[in-house]
Amino acid sequence: MLIKPRYESVELKLLRFLNTRMNLSPKDAGYFLNLEKGYEGELVFDKWLENLSDNWLIMNDLLLETNNTIYQIDSTLISPDIIYLFEVKNFEGDYYLEDDKWYTISGKEIKNPLLQLKRAESLFRRLLQDLRFSFSIEAYVVFVNPDFFLYQTPMNVPIIFPNQIDGFMKKLNMRSPRQTNGTSKFVERLSSILLEESPYKNLPGYTYDQLKKGITCSKCFGFVTRINENNLVCKRCGKLEKISEAVLRSVEEYRFLFPEKKITTNAIHEWCDLIESKKTIRRILKENFILMQQARSSYFQIPPSKGD
Ligand SMILES: [Zn+2]
Repeated sequence: MLIKPRYESVELKLLRFLNTRMNLSPKDAGYFLNLEKGYEGELVFDKWLENLSDNWLIMNDLLLETNNTIYQIDSTLISPDIIYLFEVKNFEGDYYLEDDKWYTISGKEIKNPLLQLKRAESLFRRLLQDLRFSFSIEAYVVFVNPDFFLYQTPMNVPIIFPNQIDGFMKKLNMRSPRQTNGTSKFVERLSSILLEESPYKNLPGYTYDQLKKGITCSKCFGFVTRINENNLVCKRCGKLEKISEAVLRSVEEYRFLFPEKKITTNAIHEWCDLIESKKTIRRILKENFILMQQARSSYFQIPPSKGD
């Protein structure tokens, strides 16, 4: 049973928006691609976890602090006697292992994912002690990309390779743990100490003028260029979206990027760029937001149920 779903991080969301609307520096662009790829890999693993019986409790993206150290666990699987921790990697291509060091096939050293896993595992063990829960822990690095290969892997490393995931899940499904009071107490306790994502770490700065205006595709994130009656059509991927839905999505993006700016017909008309008629924009805003009248101007406010 999924207790804590996974969302894309604020960081990834922001970089995705900016990547379409401005030129990211090579460093930011590389970082963005890594985040995007990592997230994609996590979603692949989530699909595998969906096949487990409901008695396994799943908590994703745990951000924790133990012993003054902040760490993150991609996927956590909880049963009354054992907790599985997973570090999910979406590596692609050939790598090799030599003296505990990891290299790409071209010889470039990369961070050792097993060290990252061990660190998280020992901090989590310590956390269980602090909270006075006794579960045994098993931790694995899972590689989800079928195009990944690691040469010179010793037999007993805690790694699950792509072609082993199926077998691993089948093994888990053979035992169907009965949840107990202890596990629900633990889940409750753990949920209460989770940290919020600290957004905007080293992210690029941006201004309104700097960003390219237009409506982006909900599927491929490119700019949409064609209107077809009531729909927008993405030339790149063919995705069709109702104009009103696309405008509302663009308002969301505008609010996310510029939380301090007011939502007005003019502002959204300029932001969306593609839609000629201001009347259309105004109608969509009126149908979905609350119109606030001011002496000389008016703006729209998000109804409480949609606010955040
Ligand atoms: Zn598209």
